[in-house]
Amino acid sequence: MKDRFDCSKCPGYCCSHPRIEVTENDIKRLAKHFGLSAAAAKKKFTYHFKTKDADEQILRHHKDHVYATICRFFDRDERRCTVYEARPAVCRKYPYGNKCGYYDFLKFEREHQDDPEFIPSA
Ligand code: SF4
Ligand code: SF4
Repeated sequence: MKDRFDCSKCPGYCCSHPRIEVTENDIKRLAKHFGLSAAAAKKKFTYHFKTKDADEQILRHHKDHVYATICRFFDRDERRCTVYEARPAVCRKYPYGNKCGYYDFLKFEREHQDDPEFIPSA
């Protein structure tokens, strides 16, 4: 089924999600990509997030001029993933189908504002 969204026209909203969970396999893949040990990659790229409802290893962020913060692997000027081939499983699956809710919202707002570059606050 053909995708009904175009990430090249989006500033990368999904990568700004505050909790992008990774598995041990994701960490191993990233470690290999950077020539690091899994332990070093885990420490450098992720941190442990624990509350009464969650117990997750998540990707670190850096500051962003569009969404306040975004995944540390996101190129903030080019608006793209810098580890595409080694990205975590959750990033490969997103948006779980051939539609992306944010893209529909973005498209609607851009048409409505008559501005193809418009970025609505999510
Ligand atoms: S929010 Fe949707 S359109 Fe934007 S980068 Fe993510 S998957 Fe692509
Ligand atoms: S690893 Fe890549 S695709 Fe996944 S959140 Fe970070 S920048 Fe986005």
